[in-house]
Amino acid sequence: MATIPRPVRAADRSHAVVIGAGLAGLTAARALADAYERVTVLDRDTLPAEPAPRRGVPQSRQLHVLLARGAQALEELFPGFLEELLAAGATRADTQGEAHWYLDGHLLRPAHSGVISYGASRPQVEHHVRARVAALPGVTIREGTEVLGPVTTPDRGRVTGIRVRPRAKDTKDTKETEEETIPADLLVDASGRGSRAPVWLEELGYPRPRQTRVRADVVYVTRHFRREPHHIGGRSGVALVPFPGLPRGGAIVSEREDRFAVVLFGLLGEEPPADEAGMLAYAESLPGPDVAEVLRTAEPLNEPVRMRYPASARHHYEKLDRHLGGFLVTGDALCSFNPTYGQGMTAAAQQAIVLRALLARDRDTGGLPRRFFRAAAKVVDTPWLLAAGGDLRFPEAEGRRGPADGLLDRYLTRYRAAASADPVLGRTFLSVAHMLQPPTRLMSPGHVLRVLRAPRRAGGPVGAES
Ligand SMILES: Cc1cc2nc3c(=O)[nH]c(=O)nc-3n(C[C@H](O)[C@H](O)[C@H](O)COP(=O)(O)OP(=O)(O)OC[C@H]3O[C@@H](n4cnc5c(N)ncnc54)[C@H](O)[C@@H]3O)c2cc1C
Repeated sequence: MATIPRPVRAADRSHAVVIGAGLAGLTAARALADAYERVTVLDRDTLPAEPAPRRGVPQSRQLHVLLARGAQALEELFPGFLEELLAAGATRADTQGEAHWYLDGHLLRPAHSGVISYGASRPQVEHHVRARVAALPGVTIREGTEVLGPVTTPDRGRVTGIRVRPRAKDTKDTKETEEETIPADLLVDASGRGSRAPVWLEELGYPRPRQTRVRADVVYVTRHFRREPHHIGGRSGVALVPFPGLPRGGAIVSEREDRFAVVLFGLLGEEPPADEAGMLAYAESLPGPDVAEVLRTAEPLNEPVRMRYPASARHHYEKLDRHLGGFLVTGDALCSFNPTYGQGMTAAAQQAIVLRALLARDRDTGGLPRRFFRAAAKVVDTPWLLAAGGDLRFPEAEGRRGPADGLLDRYLTRYRAAASADPVLGRTFLSVAHMLQPPTRLMSPGHVLRVLRAPRRAGGPVGAES
């Protein structure tokens, strides 16, 4: 783990304000706390004292998994974090050895991989990260505060503060009269997929960042069940990945030793039902038996919850030729990914690491937006490639395809099939999916040879086999 020098504070590093106390906002606050005298994190929600879903984060009721790289990143930002999460009941598992993965309908051959992921609910992860951030010197988390927009210098060259108003507890009502301006040297927008940053910039006379979207129309239905040792052969989880011809899937994550989160999802017009009989029939249509087994035999702990996610969206702030001084955007507000790949928390934490390194390296905050957006774009490139590339395998998915995509897709289809028999291919696939290795690793000469030598019986998606 690289040791990052503690930055010297510059004169314009007195107060940084973060919009949003989700994972991206909290991890950004961690990065800022080393460089700014004071950091204030604003959120419009009332933040629960115990791990619990909340309105401002609708996905907090849905299954989440913390990828191996994300776990490492959180540990890097908050040493001791993973032990703390485990002590609070979360689980850890060797992704290939202790979970079943079905790629294109083929069961990936189970084997020890060393790719370690963590099972915890989204509220649980946020709760522990928030506790660590709240304990940092100089950091204040201010809940029930709705952000209205930035305040700038008269020439609109840089931010000087942010307009806010209180949001009454547990209602949408706001009292417009109580608007106030909080002075700030730096604003970090981590307000999630609904970020208004592009509109704010346009209103201030800046160009709006170009957006790339890949429409996958994902529908999630998550329900929790009591986990007993005999369920799914004692494994910790299951992932049934959708593929062309079967744009539906499911997953199981052990959020605790005694609790499973189970999700059914569909893409591009496929919608899992949210009633018991419908969910079971949907699970039975998947290539592996595990999800159906849990739905049939485990005790449900709550009602199923449905959520729609229309499209992955990437905002290209890095391509802008003019930046508002002192204004950054991070997390889902910068780039949000089809959730079936489980990347959002990891990408958010990685962006915070990049921000911390930039602040440590450079006292000149004038060029910070340009440098940050460039560095964050590099962080986002890999998960975007995996998620957008994965979605564009589906002919129905809307998005721009490159000339080499067809060839690559045929290779990766053979790769997935070969990985059902070759644990080395499986391990590399999972370490790429968990962002421990770059996707180019899948195309190394050694891997290409293994794929080409794999028996053809394993070729092609299950539904397409003759
Ligand atoms: C269905 C689903 C499943 C997912 N599964 C996974 C998974 O398995 N693994 C994974 O890593 N990621 C997953 N993700 C993504 C993950 O939840 C997010 O990427 C991650 O939590 C980072 O989000 P964020 O902090 O950028 O935004 P959010 O979590 O959306 O937080 C934004 C915060 O900003 C606040 N806010 C917004 N506007 C204002 C305003 N005007 N004033 C004040 N406050 C405001 C909100 O209240 C909220 O607290 C999933 C996402 C979805 C939709």
